[in-house]
Amino acid sequence: MTQTILSLWINGRRSVSLGQRLGEIRDPATGELLRRVPLANSADIDTAVAAAHAALPGWRDTTPLRRARVLTRFRELMEQHRDEITRLASAEHGKTIADAAGSVRRGIEVIEFASGVPHLLKGDQAEDVGRGVDCHSLLQPVGVCAGITPFNFPVMVPLWMFPVAIACGNTFILKPSEKVPSASLRMAELFSEAGLPDGVLNVLPGDREAVDALLQHPGIGAISFVGSTPVARHVYATAARCGKRVQALGGAKNHAVVMPDADLEFSADALIGSAYGSAGERCMAISAVVAVGNAANPLVALLKQRAARLKVGPGSAPQVDMGPLITAAHRERVRTFIDGGVAAGAALVLDGRGLVVDGHQNGYFLGPTLFDHVTTEMQIYRDEIFGPVLIVLRVNTIDEAISMINANPYGNGSAIFTRSGYYARRFEHEIEAGMVGINVPIPVPMAFFSFGGWKASLFGDLHVHGMEGVNFYTRKKVVTTRWPAIDEHAGAGFAMPTHD
Ligand code: NAD
Repeated sequence: MTQTILSLWINGRRSVSLGQRLGEIRDPATGELLRRVPLANSADIDTAVAAAHAALPGWRDTTPLRRARVLTRFRELMEQHRDEITRLASAEHGKTIADAAGSVRRGIEVIEFASGVPHLLKGDQAEDVGRGVDCHSLLQPVGVCAGITPFNFPVMVPLWMFPVAIACGNTFILKPSEKVPSASLRMAELFSEAGLPDGVLNVLPGDREAVDALLQHPGIGAISFVGSTPVARHVYATAARCGKRVQALGGAKNHAVVMPDADLEFSADALIGSAYGSAGERCMAISAVVAVGNAANPLVALLKQRAARLKVGPGSAPQVDMGPLITAAHRERVRTFIDGGVAAGAALVLDGRGLVVDGHQNGYFLGPTLFDHVTTEMQIYRDEIFGPVLIVLRVNTIDEAISMINANPYGNGSAIFTRSGYYARRFEHEIEAGMVGINVPIPVPMAFFSFGGWKASLFGDLHVHGMEGVNFYTRKKVVTTRWPAIDEHAGAGFAMPTHD
């Protein structure tokens, strides 16, 4: 993909947008313009929905086994092009190659999961639910589904959605983030090469205009969204008002509790990777450490020592731990949070604001930043910063730690570091979050489990991938069957049938 203006992908081919607007994609490590991207408008969405509808009957009636074979070929092509896809994701996002490669691998695992769709679509069956009456259930596709994805996982988050939806017999419109669209467009080409019929997957980069057109389009039956909480709320309310099923995954403030009995060296290593990996631009990043009792002083010392050693630079360079932020505007936003934390009286243990990366003065870099003695009223605690800023709050007991976390409006992931099974079990049982780690800082579930948060981190009920994903992308039908004997005439019945 060497063109300087990207295309849309509609009905199995590159297409030009009917709109006039273009977005810019800049290299976050240098600030240089990489390419431009068309921002799809509502006429483009209409065209894509028409293509997806035209493809629906043929794809829905393709047997699950044949659909699975197309997915298997797609998985093979993704393996063959893994390096290329990884580099596209890293170049537009800025994350390190190793980190991008890991997220591509986790995405491919969703294709592997979805390739088992003939088994996943088996319904229930019961003989003799009444005398001579049997019952079975079917899982049928919803129809045309749409996915709207964030900038921070250019490959993995789109792959949470479209392989599962398509395996279930739906057709799909993906609106990737306009900041990182190239990997999604390339994946659509590979899926087509794998034998996916035209119109089953359409990819339209765009911004709010495209999103609102998708949410309101009467031809779309289901919306999957991953992004920030304010937009997730808007997506959930609008799509639901327009009669669609919707899952809208939002932002996060993920806490890790460190108990005094924890292995502090192990905990510090885990927390550093989780807080500063991908420059903190992960919805499962640990951004708040809750240090219990006398864990605090030694833990903060270890965090400071390790954070200060991190190598910051362009994601494509070897041995870099952390790349730049996504845009200059986002770096400014994160800087403003740090300024606010200092003004509010938090102790700034490590300040990343002055970092300059040699030869990359125009890149959007910010060094690792660590605050101690943060309190729950401070803005750096209340808001999702989405940058390389880790804050430490101090409490005296596990009860205080759990109450603090449960009072936070977000509930994506949460972790505890301890050697005590008692503390671990209490935490697992009482914590209000969708994904919990016990001595695991980023508990991102595998493809065959489901991914999703609670509270302001997810609007809707069903999580993505795993069986929850299959449930989201299918409608259930229960069939009740009777085959009466030739002379069996029971007469008309007017009372509700029962088993009494
Ligand atoms: P974002 O909410 O700004 O954008 C997400 C998507 O919505 C993009 O496709 C974007 O084009 C579109 N969009 C942006 N503003 C919109 C508006 N006003 N109306 C309609 N659509 C709009 O999020 P982002 O900055 O791309 O990604 C970072 C956020 O995503 C963070 O908050 C992060 O926690 C969250 N996230 C959550 C998860 C999760 O699983 N819960 C995973 C990854 C990222």
